[in-house]
Amino acid sequence: MSGDVDVAIIGGGLLGLATARAVLRAHPDASVTVLEKESRWGAHQSGHNSNVIHSGLYYAPGSLKARLARAGGEAMIRYCDEHGVPVKRTGKIVVATAEEQLPRMDALEARGRENGVTVQRLSRGEIAEREPHVAGVGALAVADTAMTDFGQVCRAFAAELTGLGADLRTNSPARSFTAAGDRTVVHTSTGEVRARIIVNCAGLHSDKIAEAAGHRPPVRIMPFRGEYAEIRPARRGLINNPVYPVPDPDLPFLGVHVTPMLDGTVHVGPNAVPALARQGYRWRDVDPRMLRELLLDPALRGLARRYWRYGLAEIGRSLVWPLFVREVRRMIPEINGEDLRRHGSGVRAQAVKPTGELVDDFVISHTPRAIHVLNAPSPAATSSLLIGSHIAAEAFDRLGLADLARDVRESPTGI
Ligand SMILES: Cc1cc2nc3c(=O)[nH]c(=O)nc-3n(C[C@H](O)[C@H](O)[C@H](O)COP(=O)(O)OP(=O)(O)OC[C@H]3O[C@@H](n4cnc5c(N)ncnc54)[C@H](O)[C@@H]3O)c2cc1C
Repeated sequence: MSGDVDVAIIGGGLLGLATARAVLRAHPDASVTVLEKESRWGAHQSGHNSNVIHSGLYYAPGSLKARLARAGGEAMIRYCDEHGVPVKRTGKIVVATAEEQLPRMDALEARGRENGVTVQRLSRGEIAEREPHVAGVGALAVADTAMTDFGQVCRAFAAELTGLGADLRTNSPARSFTAAGDRTVVHTSTGEVRARIIVNCAGLHSDKIAEAAGHRPPVRIMPFRGEYAEIRPARRGLINNPVYPVPDPDLPFLGVHVTPMLDGTVHVGPNAVPALARQGYRWRDVDPRMLRELLLDPALRGLARRYWRYGLAEIGRSLVWPLFVREVRRMIPEINGEDLRRHGSGVRAQAVKPTGELVDDFVISHTPRAIHVLNAPSPAATSSLLIGSHIAAEAFDRLGLADLARDVRESPTGI
């Protein structure tokens, strides 16, 4: 199969699908192809996450994350409501389990308020009222957190895109790129696509796709696995709504949290351990080529220098079950090893700077004919509708459609 299109999108996770949707809703005559290497939509990060629609509490004021999370969360809740995807406003609490965490909790509260999030402080008694089995010396309550099923959101996006006339191709990995006049030819296993603009939403492979398309990415993707446990059915009542620890401000991860899913299961996690392959869902998934490349990369040495203490502790908790259980017991003292069992994982596409610093904010790089999403970790699922609109506006700029770009920027929720 081959074809000339306005926009070719590589990656059928939430961001690729949301971008296609934003382009076609603003410009129904545009031709858009979405290429996904797997046999289904949302097969990686978008289908392996905590399913939390975040409120915007955590993010540095002014960052792209902060700007897109608050409104993005509200847009996602509305989208789910309107498209028959389960969604529930649960709220959540962030619990300090030791006195020394209180200053960090204060800073988080101030940040949340700056981001326009409604945050309420809870006393010990109020914590006990909401979550009788949770131990905390203080907590923040956030009302605007919700739960959904992002796998179902992907399927809803895909169904909508079929109606909008998108060319949707699963089992179609983009393998290489060549230039042909004003087009970029994307070579896939199912034929060529000749596109005026390419959008790289390839998640764990996005740095490699950028390189293949002739762009030198400013960051490298390092895969960080997040492993989950599940609370056995008889003990699910230990928790009513999502409970989070106070995060370490030096890390882009939120810490192991306890999250009741909409299907009644209760998940504990994710931790953050280095994955040994881009799709390294288990310790035994090892990609020797990726590891060789990493070992030669100064970024890895920088990363190890900065975060070795945290990294070793996380690896210990991943490999030694009682250490993981001990971590969970800090928040829920009644829980024990028999109450928990391992329950799958997801792998984060985490960008790392050449210095080894983990990148916190979203990173979207541009060239005249391509847009590369090079860091879209949590809360990118929450913000996917707005990120899609943001990318669509960039694509319209490159297609010379300034009016459409302006319209999308002025009304970005896309619902
Ligand atoms: C453990 C974990 C927990 C998380 N929890 C939350 C949460 O609760 N809330 C939240 O908002 N966010 C959360 N996130 C983040 C969120 O899941 C991601 O930010 C979001 O899914 C990113 O979407 P994406 O489309 O960029 O990436 P992905 O969903 O990974 O999609 C990329 C797609 O590109 C495809 N692809 C790769 N290479 C090629 C190629 N050559 N050709 C064609 N296709 C290709 C892949 O197969 C994949 O389907 C979590 C992430 C993880 C890993």
